[in-house]
Amino acid sequence: MNPSFGTYQLAEEHEALREAVRSLAEKEIKPYAAEVDENERFPVEAHNALVKAGFAAVHVPESYDGQGADSVATCIVIEEVARVCASSSLIPAVNKLGTMPILLSASEELKQLVMPSIASGEAMASYALSEREAGSDTASMRTRAVLDGNDWVLNGTKCWITNAGESTWYTVMAVTDPKAEKKSAGISAFVVHKDDPGFSVGPKERKLGIKGSPTREIYFENCTIPANRIIGEPGTGLKTALRTLDHTRPTIGAQAVGIAQGALEAAVAYVKDRKQFGKSISDFQGVQFMLADMAMKIEAARHMVYVAAAKAERGEANIGFITAAAKCFASDVAMEVTTDAVQLFGGAGYTRDFPVERMMRDAKITQIYEGTNQVQRVVMSRAVLKG
Ligand SMILES: Cc1cc2nc3c(=O)[nH]c(=O)nc-3n(C[C@H](O)[C@H](O)[C@H](O)COP(=O)(O)OP(=O)(O)OC[C@H]3O[C@@H](n4cnc5c(N)ncnc54)[C@H](O)[C@@H]3O)c2cc1C
Repeated sequence: MNPSFGTYQLAEEHEALREAVRSLAEKEIKPYAAEVDENERFPVEAHNALVKAGFAAVHVPESYDGQGADSVATCIVIEEVARVCASSSLIPAVNKLGTMPILLSASEELKQLVMPSIASGEAMASYALSEREAGSDTASMRTRAVLDGNDWVLNGTKCWITNAGESTWYTVMAVTDPKAEKKSAGISAFVVHKDDPGFSVGPKERKLGIKGSPTREIYFENCTIPANRIIGEPGTGLKTALRTLDHTRPTIGAQAVGIAQGALEAAVAYVKDRKQFGKSISDFQGVQFMLADMAMKIEAARHMVYVAAAKAERGEANIGFITAAAKCFASDVAMEVTTDAVQLFGGAGYTRDFPVERMMRDAKITQIYEGTNQVQRVVMSRAVLKG
């Protein structure tokens, strides 16, 4: 028998972590989730609780005073927070997204500048790739960075930046060589601090969901940063930005799994309680089969997310397929499951009196950001055709 047979399960530490985060999320995040959504405000209670418990950025390596949690553990933290409040789950998720380019490619000096402040919770990081005219087609970005003596000077606008205004550090991709034969080879990555001259943030976008997580444009008007704030060599920025996504698409998958799990649990409680035709609606096979499908899809998505996260952690080659598949599958599941959860609540599900309405709105973004699910299918089909 294969000696590894039987070891396909999460470590005890992972299950213990899940319990700890679930308990914190139930007590300190869930009670505020509806009001955070209603008032479209940053979930300060969740932020404080996550920082205090050391769950705001578990991925930061121990060498930068972090917890050094592996990628599956990071997914579990995000999943458990998303189970009660998707907006709050963007705190650990975007801290990883914003710092992954630094961890992957920055100089030791730059890592030392940024990472300990993220580990302590004193600062958060955002990731700035998208522009109004360069969404799926990232390489067509227009933000420019020019070396001027000992400084880089940035000009341009990034849009859709999650947690902008709350974050201290911004990982920003900008064109440094507009004449590069391949556009992607003319892009570099930089670290910008919120207090750098020429940096500012715009008003909050008015969104369908994840209303507690601010999404804003960020502006660079002759924004001047020291030369050593470049991440890696000039021209490697887009490569780093895309490698980052291999590590963070599983985290969006985890967020999607968490949202779906929260919706399933709410639906199960409701159908047991709600009576029609003289019995619980959970006694109807039509309802039971819906619950079975919801649970089945969530379980499949969860496993795919952990497998993708583990492969990224191990640095396996050709992980584009599995990380895209995990993000795409889990987010499609989240959309289906939350829609079915609203259905199982009947009219009540369509109101803000129950959390499934918010969960359905929150689920939608997981199909859009970090590459739309069409783009994930482009990535997957390329890998399939390549063989
Ligand atoms: C709430 C929110 C938070 C975000 N946070 C961040 C962030 O923190 N940092 C950041 O950099 N970005 C962020 N984004 C941006 C996000 O990643 C982009 O919105 C996304 O990549 C899609 O780009 P787009 O909006 O320009 O859509 P477009 O690229 O214009 O796409 C429009 C439609 O065309 C389809 N499409 C495009 N190209 C193809 C193709 N080749 N084949 C098939 N279909 C295609 C898309 O799937 C989509 O359905 C965020 C967006 C939102 C809404």
